This record gives sequence, C-alpha cells and structure tokens, in this order.
Amino acid sequence: AKHGNGNSEYLEKIPDVKFTKLFINGEFVDSISGKTFETVDPRTGEVITLVAEGDKEDVDLAVKAARKAFDHGTWPRMSGFERGRIMNKFADLIEQNLEELAALDTIDGGKLFSLGKEVDIPSVSSMLRYYAGAADKIHGETLKMSMELQGYTLLEPVGVVGLIIPWNFPSLLFFIKAAPALAAGCTMVIKPAEQTPVSALFYAHLAKQAGIPDGVLNVINGFGPTAGAAISSHMDIDKVSFTGSTEVGRLIMQAAATSNLKQVSLELGGKSPLIVFDDADVNKAVELALLAVLYNKGEICCAGSRVYVQEGIYEEFEKKIAEKAKSWVVGDPFDPHVQQGPQVDKEQFEKILYYIEQGKKEGGTILTGGKALDKKGYYIEPTIFTDVKEEMIVVSDEIFGPVMSLMKFKTVEEAIERANNTKYGLAAGIVTKDLNIANRVSRSIRAGTIWINCYFALDRGCPFGGYKMSGFGKDKGMQALYKFLQVKAVVTPIYNSPW
Ligand code: ADP
Repeated sequence: AKHGNGNSEYLEKIPDVKFTKLFINGEFVDSISGKTFETVDPRTGEVITLVAEGDKEDVDLAVKAARKAFDHGTWPRMSGFERGRIMNKFADLIEQNLEELAALDTIDGGKLFSLGKEVDIPSVSSMLRYYAGAADKIHGETLKMSMELQGYTLLEPVGVVGLIIPWNFPSLLFFIKAAPALAAGCTMVIKPAEQTPVSALFYAHLAKQAGIPDGVLNVINGFGPTAGAAISSHMDIDKVSFTGSTEVGRLIMQAAATSNLKQVSLELGGKSPLIVFDDADVNKAVELALLAVLYNKGEICCAGSRVYVQEGIYEEFEKKIAEKAKSWVVGDPFDPHVQQGPQVDKEQFEKILYYIEQGKKEGGTILTGGKALDKKGYYIEPTIFTDVKEEMIVVSDEIFGPVMSLMKFKTVEEAIERANNTKYGLAAGIVTKDLNIANRVSRSIRAGTIWINCYFALDRGCPFGGYKMSGFGKDKGMQALYKFLQVKAVVTPIYNSPW
C-alpha cells in the first residue's frame, strides 16, 4: 500500500507499508475471519493501509506455535550465547532499516521522525544488544541449607509469554518486553496497539531473517477486548507483560486470575510531579519542565504533567515558561524544525480537548494554548493551566497529552505531600542544587523513578516501573530479565540420609 497522504515535501521519507498480515509460526498469514482494520495517519486523519485483524482463534494458533517452540523447539534449549548471537544479528538488521522503521512509527503514530531516528530505533537495537549480552550469564545459585542437603537453583524461562503493548512507543515498547523475553529463552505472542500496528510486523520479518526460529516470536494485531483479552485469559500463556492504561491493567489482572493464574506485570499510567525548588536555575528548569510534559506530545506514561514551583521563583518561572511554550513548534513530524507532532488518533485528540474543557470548567486558568491547531490532523497546542489544585481532574487524571498543571508551593514538606497526593507512582523530577533537599525528597516520594536535575533520563540498564496504581514488575535492566525467568530449586541429600 503506497502511502501518499502526507505533506508532499516529505513524501520521499514515507515508506511503503510492506507487511500487513498476522505473523504466526514464522509466516505472514491472513486472520481466520479474513477481517482487516484501517490504520490512520494522524497528520491527516487518512487511512494508511488495511491490517489483518486477529481475534481469539488467531491468538490460539499463535499460542500453539509458541507452545511448540517452547516445549520442543531449539530456542529455550540452545546456549544463551547462541541466543545472544542471533539477537545481535536482529539488532544489526534493525540498524540497517533504521530510517524506514522510524518513518513507519511517524506515519502510524505521529511521532517525530527525528526522535524515531535518533532515540527510539537506536534504543531498540541497543536494548537487544544489552539483553543479548546477558543471555549467557543467566544462572542460579548454590544454596546453603539447614539439613544435610545440598541444593541449587536453576533459572528457567517462564514459558510462553503474552506481550501487550500500547501505541505511544510502538518500537521501543515492543523491545523493552521482547528483548529480555528472548534472552530468557521464552517464546511469545505480541499484540501491538491497534493504533500503531505496522512497525511490529516489520520487526517480525527481521526476526525471521535474523534466524529466530519459527514460533518463537508471533505478532497478532487486533483490538484489546478481542485479541488482547484472548491473550490475558489464555490457558496456555504463562505470563503477560502489559504496558497501557490502569483500567486495562485491572482487566488483565482479572483475566489472569480467572483463567490460569498466569503471572502478570503491569506498567500503567502516571501523573508524575516535577518539583522545582527556589535555588534552581530558572531557565534550565523551564526547559526541563517543557520537555517533561511535551516530549512525544505528552503521550508518555512518565510525563511530568504536574509542575510544582517554589514561591520564590514562581513568577519568573511562569513568565518564562509561557513565552517558551508559545514559541514551541507544532506541526508535521517529518519537518526537522517541528518539536511536536499530532496526537496519535482522533479519540486521543478529543480526550485531551475534553480534559482541557474540564480544566476550564473547574476554574483553571489557561496560561498558554488550550485548543487544537486550526488545520487538518490531530494537533494540539502546548497547554499550561494555572490556578489548579490536586482535587481537580485536570490535575488528578492522566491526560496523555501536552497539558501541564503549574502550581506554586512554599515548603519542602508541602511539596512532598502534594507530589504524593496521587493514586499513581511512576516517576518524579526534582530540580535543586541542594543535595540535602534532593536526597530527602527522592526518598519521600512514592514513585518508581526519581530524576534529579534531569527528566526522562531513561536507560536500558535502569529498571523502570511503578509504585501504587502505576503497576508492578520492572521493565529494563536486569530486573526485566528476571521477570521472564522462574526459579527452580533442585535438592539432593549429601549423605545417605533418611530423606
Ligand atoms: P491506552 O489508554 O494507552 O490506549 P490501553 O490500555 O487502552 O492504552 O491499550 C494498551 C494495549 O492494551 C493495546 O494493545 C490495547 O489493544 C490493549 N487492550 C485494551 N483493552 C484490552 C483488554 N480488555 N484486554 C487486553 N488488552 C487490552
């Protein structure tokens, strides 16, 4: 399907979508129902291509293939070194197709092409290489037991895993989950988000080229209540790793509980605070605050969407951030001068505008922005609310868009209390030169990641995941690898004991 709906000046960057079917047992196949769905370019609202729509029967086939590859195939049985070698080859192929992959996420999700090229896709290949290097260093331990027994543990792959991913980082989240699962020796069924189905199929194609055996990595596009629910309630899937909304996380846990008690790990929503203290460099803090809420058009679970500024610098901060936000460039994500592309789809676009209206109704003041751009596509102005407090839904709900709540505070205690006044606990940022404040606040905030004098300093080696209703079970780092392993204890008597 040739895609020709975008701005003509960037046409040469827009790739053909080569893969649109389901990927099961190493083959691209139509869905059993023959159904397809449209995937839309958020720059224009026009259809890019039709993609095969998987449902329960397709998930069943994929799980059968993954089960066979796990129970009888080579992937979990080959040496970790060999798995790592194949994963590195997979990374090589991704690097060779970097621009095309970045462009697919841009047309499908409105992501800045420059970010895809410089951040998302390079992070994907480095994620594969990081876990490739770990694949041959997975081992248990020798135990010291109280009786005349000797024992040791084996770390074994969990089995067939279901990976359900959202649309905001279609490539990165695919590999944040698939790379450690592959290294562990698991086999998998991956369900990309229905808003951004295309790059995952390209990765499936490259996985096969790299030598990942058939059945190890299956991709089923489709919708949440059908294909997604079929995964979370499947009797033959051993674990589900999910990133998405807190509401759906709850459904997934319920489905796991009422089916086969599969393990679950959830990376869910957030409403993360960024706290700027009086001693901060105001210009730098302003830049950080804008980045924290506008990066990836605010469609990031750890966005710093509640900004607390101490009273001594508040006025200056407010004035400067308003100026900067007004000059923020929103437009075609292929344009290298653009800082913010369109929201992912019409639904998300309307949801954000609804929240902006709610914020106004609740008595919030719009400092900047507050509406959609007057053009085709799902573009929204960077929006900053003042005169808001934690009880308002604009401050308490995750909006997943370029909307900041800017608030003033007096004391460190107040900042800690208000920052913690949320059901979420994904991340927090602190801006201060005072080490004592930084230490104290970072220990007092109930969130899985604390960034001091930075924001989004994400790294493949650093565990990422939530406290509270932001979920549990870390992505990234060695913690994520252990998520896909289970511990087996092996015990034997040392002497001829009565055991
Ligand atoms: P967002 O709010 O970011 O769109 P969702 O939580 O709705 O995130 O979706 C994230 C992923 O979860 C998508 O792949 C979606 O299809 C899937 N999903 C949605 N509903 C369900 C469900 N009931 N069971 C399993 N997966 C689901």
